[in-house]
Amino acid sequence: MTVDVQTLPPDLADTVEAHGKAVAAGDNRSVLADFMPDRIGQLIASADVPNRLKGAEVRSISDVGNGRYDAVIRYTKLDDEWFELRSRWLRFEDGSWRVFSVRNIPATAPWMDITGSAEDGSDQPHWDGLRDGVLRIQRCGTCRTWIWSPRPICPSCHSFDTRWEAVEPTGTVYSWTRTWQPFTPESTGHLPYVVVLVELRGAGGSRVVGVLADADGITPVIGAPVRGTIEAPPDEEHWPLLRWHLESETK
Ligand SMILES: [Zn+2]
Repeated sequence: MTVDVQTLPPDLADTVEAHGKAVAAGDNRSVLADFMPDRIGQLIASADVPNRLKGAEVRSISDVGNGRYDAVIRYTKLDDEWFELRSRWLRFEDGSWRVFSVRNIPATAPWMDITGSAEDGSDQPHWDGLRDGVLRIQRCGTCRTWIWSPRPICPSCHSFDTRWEAVEPTGTVYSWTRTWQPFTPESTGHLPYVVVLVELRGAGGSRVVGVLADADGITPVIGAPVRGTIEAPPDEEHWPLLRWHLESETK
């Protein structure tokens, strides 16, 4: 285990180790007692843990600021395969250490089967654009109005001359929401996540929806500048994802 002796509270390592053992032993009562009381419901859904495990080993504990510490625990399955979870700890008002959030490692949210073009193919150029590493938004060839979401005719002048133009993936947060519910099986273990509605500067204020990266514990500010990155999918069956980052992070 790697620990920063300078900053690690003396009672945290023992707590984390006991927590890992409780998880591995399926001791749900002890595990739940380690959770922040107001986060129990959320935490139960936030990590994907098999019913039966062989063991647990604390890999690291690190100070992430604001009185919070990240512990990485490696769990071994019955078949000797392992996986790691990152739990974030902070001191509760009763003096005990409690888990504030849990993440599978890697923390990157997964690709969901719901990505890809609509059945009618109206947004196919958008998805093809992402495959080419470009954000493409529909635009009227007659009156130059930006059109999003995609339509067969321009909502402004009713022209059928619609085109697709490359747009710089920068904008501002128009609205956002934090999701605790695993609406798809893939999102289990990656909760909560933050979805932002981004107003694109370069596309007449068209608003596109996407996941905000590294948003655990972050409360986005309306109007905050964001930049999108196009992330390649793990395989040919999935489509690239446009994921948003707060501008302050990318500097
Ligand atoms: Zn038009």
